[in-house]
Amino acid sequence: MITKQPTSKFLEVVCPKCKNEQTIFNKASRPVACLVCGNILSETTGGMSIVKAKIVKVYG
Ligand SMILES: [Zn+2]
Repeated sequence: MITKQPTSKFLEVVCPKCKNEQTIFNKASRPVACLVCGNILSETTGGMSIVKAKIVKVYG
């Protein structure tokens, strides 16, 4: 049994390059880039986001 359901959440992450804090959606359908430096913060694989930045806060 899978007890961990994939849920939609907003994550606050810190860009590893420029330390910009940004809120991203963990089920985004497209890669998410840092608004300041353009570094990729989250990539998508099969509908799941792979967060490549440091998560500092999880909403919801
Ligand atoms: Zn950045």
